[in-house]
Amino acid sequence: RNVKKYFPVEKGLFGKKTGTVHAVDDISFDIHEKETLAIVGESGCGKSTLGRTLIRLLDATEGSALFQGKDVFKLSQHELRQLRKEMQIIFQDPFASLNPRMKVSDIIAEPLVTHETIGRKEREDRVAELMEQVGLRKAYSSRYPHMFSGGQRQRIGIARALALHPKFIVCDEPVSALDVSIQSQIINLLQKLQEQNHLTYLFISHDLSVVRYFSDRIGVMFLGKMMELGPTEEVYRHPLHPYTKFLIAAAPVPDPHARHQEKLILEGDIPSPLRPPSGCRFHTRCPYVKDICRSQEPQIQQIDDRSVACHFPLE
Ligand code: SF4
Ligand code: MG
Repeated sequence: RNVKKYFPVEKGLFGKKTGTVHAVDDISFDIHEKETLAIVGESGCGKSTLGRTLIRLLDATEGSALFQGKDVFKLSQHELRQLRKEMQIIFQDPFASLNPRMKVSDIIAEPLVTHETIGRKEREDRVAELMEQVGLRKAYSSRYPHMFSGGQRQRIGIARALALHPKFIVCDEPVSALDVSIQSQIINLLQKLQEQNHLTYLFISHDLSVVRYFSDRIGVMFLGKMMELGPTEEVYRHPLHPYTKFLIAAAPVPDPHARHQEKLILEGDIPSPLRPPSGCRFHTRCPYVKDICRSQEPQIQQIDDRSVACHFPLE
C-alpha cells in the first residue's frame, strides 16, 4: 500500500545532494496467492526497485507490504530472517549471481546451510531433489558455474531460490539475458514449478511478448508510477492507458501470420526520473495530451477488475 522508494542522488564536486529519484512513487496493488503478476515497463521505470523493496532487499521510504498478515516493511531483523525462507528472488543475470568458485551443489545448498539446521545427508538429498526439479543432471553437482550454458545457470539460480520452500518469488527479468530459444524452456520450467510448489510470482520484464503467455495479471509502470493494472489478456486486447497501448504496439508480434498491428511510435525520450514531468508523467510523450494532463496528476481509477491512471482512458 502506497509504496515509495526514493534515492538521494549525490553528484557534483562536494558530493552534495543534488536531487531525489522517485524510483517507486506511491504504488498500491494486491498480489493473489498462486498467481503470476507481471510488472512491465521500460528500463528505469522502477520495476526492479519495486520488486526488491517488496521483499526487503531494499528498505522502503514509505508505505506497507502485507504478507501473511504482517507488514514486511516493519519486521525486525529476526523476523526478516524467517521471511527470507518465504520470499526469494531470481535474478536476470544467472552468471553474475552465482559464485564462480563454488560448486553447483554448494551454491544450491547455501541457503540450507544459512537458514536450516539439517544434517549433511538430508542436505545432499535436498540438493539432489532440487536439481532434479529444475532439470539438471545429478552428475553436474560438482561442476562450477562457468561450465554451464546461460540456461543451465538460470536453472541453478532457480534451484537455489527454491531451496527453502518459498511461497513468493520475485523473478527479475529471469529470461532477458538468455537466447530466445532457451527463454521458453525456462518459462515452462517456472510454470511447472509454480504448479508443483504453489508459488506466487511477481514477474518483472520489459518484454511484453514473454509476459503475455505467462502472467495472470499485468501491471504497467512508467517513471515510478503504476499506469495500468488488470487481467493480462484484457489489458492486451483493450489497453486503457495510452502508454500501455504504445508498449503493446511496439512489442514484436510472435505470430508471423498475424495481421500487422497499426504502427505506433513514441515520440521523445523518457523524461529524467530526477525531474519527472508535472501532472501526468506521461504527458510529454502522450499523443492524447490535453491541458489538464500537464497540471493535474491523474488518480488511479478502478474500472471493474482493472485500474488505470489517466484522465482520458481509452475506449
Ligand atoms: Fe495522456 Fe493525459 Fe492520459 Fe496522461 S492523463 S496518459 S497525458 S491522456
Ligand atoms: Mg531492472
